[in-house]
Amino acid sequence: MECKRADPLLATALWRCNVRIRKGDTVEVISGDDLGARGTIHRMFPREGRVVISGVNLIKRHTRPTGQVKTKAGIIEREAPIDLSKVALVCSSCDRWTRVSYEIMDDGSKVRVCKRCGERME
Ligand SMILES: [Zn+2]
Repeated sequence: MECKRADPLLATALWRCNVRIRKGDTVEVISGDDLGARGTIHRMFPREGRVVISGVNLIKRHTRPTGQVKTKAGIIEREAPIDLSKVALVCSSCDRWTRVSYEIMDDGSKVRVCKRCGERME
């Protein structure tokens, strides 16, 4: 199933559709300039449908040595949020990006399952 963003009001619905990805997960970029790049999710923006991945989608920022926080003058690189539709979860078992499904355990908890190899991901 593909999730498409049709309306900003549907962002929450989109997020639910993609909520298979969580903070701390290892993901791979599956489209765009950073294709194939991998990193860990360290920030999430549910309303925008975007995530920040460590080491991925770096942008250059020009900084000045002003303000209370002592920043160095020059150019620093930092991660910019990337659209959730451009990333996919990486399965730890088969080491490829994958779509996931859920399996309900006996105690009612949900476990993510890799659609490629069928292994549980938790
Ligand atoms: Zn797998």
